[in-house]
Amino acid sequence: MSFRVKRLAAGLAITAFVVVGVTVVTITLSQQSTPAATPFGTTVPNGSIPNPILPGATSRAREASQPKGTRSYSVVVNKRRPLIPRDYVPADLVPVRVPYIGARPLLRREAAIEVESLFAAFTKETGLKMQSNSAYRSYSAQQAEYRTFSRKLGTAAAEETTALPGYSEHQTGLAIDIGARGSSCSARDCFAATPQGQWLAHNAWRFGFIIRYPEGQQAVTGYSYEPWHIRFVGTTLAGKIHGHFGSLEAYFHLPAAPSYVN
Ligand SMILES: [Zn+2]
Repeated sequence: MSFRVKRLAAGLAITAFVVVGVTVVTITLSQQSTPAATPFGTTVPNGSIPNPILPGATSRAREASQPKGTRSYSVVVNKRRPLIPRDYVPADLVPVRVPYIGARPLLRREAAIEVESLFAAFTKETGLKMQSNSAYRSYSAQQAEYRTFSRKLGTAAAEETTALPGYSEHQTGLAIDIGARGSSCSARDCFAATPQGQWLAHNAWRFGFIIRYPEGQQAVTGYSYEPWHIRFVGTTLAGKIHGHFGSLEAYFHLPAAPSYVN
């Protein structure tokens, strides 16, 4: 079997496994009236998601899905990995048709389609509503946001939650901050305990999104826990990270990015 064929076989096997995982979770959820209150990010809820990576396929799977660049859905942007170029603007931004506050949300087309499905599924399954608090932010919008936070909190505290322009996931057009409609827990730790936060922690991966900054991983991701910030990576990668790896950095074996390089 040639190397290419082996990679293809591994990919098919993984895809099949993920499809099985979706089926299992769908059945499990339909039997529950409310999601179980378990920790977020890296934990497998109720053991309902099987390992999506087959023994022996791990290294090939990772090799096949290494981040390829700024336009890739698996791009890793952190305090050690700026966008290239730093003033990058995605070419396929479209409006996201969901409730929002602030500026009208924009995301890359595929992420927008999936997040609209995610919002619809949440409302269908819970009867509740979510909103977009912030989606795509341009280099200059991020610059303004960073200045505001660093004036208010000081540079060190601002850098825990707000990226420098050119280093923000929001500039990729693949990240969105979710708010609980009618709640005061927007962009605060207490969002994790809201029905919206709980549902996202368990279900965002079904739509290709991950909780990008899980609890207790600031030393790796560079950011404190943000249960409201979800990042589109596609369903296959989201399933793997949700079940086993926690962060993009861990999945791709990238160096920790706790701070900017001076
Ligand atoms: Zn965010």
